[in-house]
Amino acid sequence: MRVADPEPELVLRSTHVVTPEGPRAASVAVSLATGTIAAVLPYDAPVPPRARIEELGDDVLLPGLVDTHVHVNDPGRTEWEGFGSATRAAAAGGITTLVDMPLNSIPPTTTVEALEIKRAVARRAAHVDVGFWGGAVPGNAADLKPLHDAGVLGFKCFLLPSGVDEFPQLTPAGLHSALREIAGFGGLLIVHAEDPHLIEGAPAPSGPAYADFLASRPRDAENRAIERLVELARELDARVHILHLSSAEALPLIAAARSDGVRVTVETCPHFLTLTAEEVPDGATEFKCCPPIREAANQDALWQGLADGTIDCVVSDHSPCTADLKTGDFGGAWGGISSLQLGLSAVWTEARRRGHTLHDVVRWMSAGPAALVGLDRLKGAVAAGHDADFAVLAPDETFTVDPTALHHRNQVTAYAGRTLHGVVRSTWLRGRKIADHGIPTEPTGRLLERQLRA
Ligand SMILES: [Zn+2]
Repeated sequence: MRVADPEPELVLRSTHVVTPEGPRAASVAVSLATGTIAAVLPYDAPVPPRARIEELGDDVLLPGLVDTHVHVNDPGRTEWEGFGSATRAAAAGGITTLVDMPLNSIPPTTTVEALEIKRAVARRAAHVDVGFWGGAVPGNAADLKPLHDAGVLGFKCFLLPSGVDEFPQLTPAGLHSALREIAGFGGLLIVHAEDPHLIEGAPAPSGPAYADFLASRPRDAENRAIERLVELARELDARVHILHLSSAEALPLIAAARSDGVRVTVETCPHFLTLTAEEVPDGATEFKCCPPIREAANQDALWQGLADGTIDCVVSDHSPCTADLKTGDFGGAWGGISSLQLGLSAVWTEARRRGHTLHDVVRWMSAGPAALVGLDRLKGAVAAGHDADFAVLAPDETFTVDPTALHHRNQVTAYAGRTLHGVVRSTWLRGRKIADHGIPTEPTGRLLERQLRA
């Protein structure tokens, strides 16, 4: 450390700290004045004179998770979720940064004015750091650059109806011009990739049978849409991110495009990695999301995509609603799965069974998403100079998911009754404990803006 650095006031010591270089026993010195990691020291290093030591024993110290796909719905649909409830759930689940999706709130984040409305609501309530995606919708081309300048981390669009009337999809021509505009100022477009014509041509879903719902959202609809997006990214030399990948059949074309230098990235979600179509009971619409949870063989291929590095991130796509919108009919029920508080344990449970390590999980759920949104100099690593954001995990302990223990506004979850590995002991934001044994403390989250690259 340089002499000018503020003296660390806190040391977290664990036999298992997950650093970018791998796991090691370490003492992590934190400056509370700056809220950053001052140094990652050897386990036995002398404790700085004024520092308090937090002994974590064999509990694992991870960088706080970064969840770049969360529908907070606030303001406008706060009965579905709100910034207070969402960020409490995030803190309890080991997440220290979330990025709010531009739709399902009213207004949607498609103008700077709407962004400021959302920021005003979030600022008062946030238990974790919060960033924002903007939206690209028909008619808001002139709002994209101002939103970029105002600090959104990128822009979301749909190619087919989004589920809410106030956030319509782009036409093919609209997609082309929005992407050209966004590429012009170096922005990122994130896309719900399902082809509208193939969805229209599939049998419409209705009734309680999951197989009928699955047939209404064929893999080809994802594959075709992704193929087209990859070609557009290539043509326009644009950055495109594929949201919530479900169809593993699209992985080879994504990998091939990347090896050609096309700037396309891709995420998947805990539910695609841990739940399968075969096990969804009839009428269990808490499992409904779009694109859908597919068969076990597809899930195996998604894990292969994570293992070989084709998939960059695992993020929740937490998209809650009130219980009355989760009727027993797969046609009418709201599509969205609630998992914000459970994502780390759900993914870790399956990851460990498949021979992956917490280092892998951190790459997918913290470092990867932080890099996606350009926050990787602040977030996503236990390393000197980064924000002192941590999750402390007991990886071998198990718990059974009790929906009433969730801080989500609506305690509807596809994970109810499952036994998961990995108990989050505590969560820390800039060196302050923001959740202790699942109980959130004070709302000290900050609002994040896009970081200018040097
Ligand atoms: Zn979503």
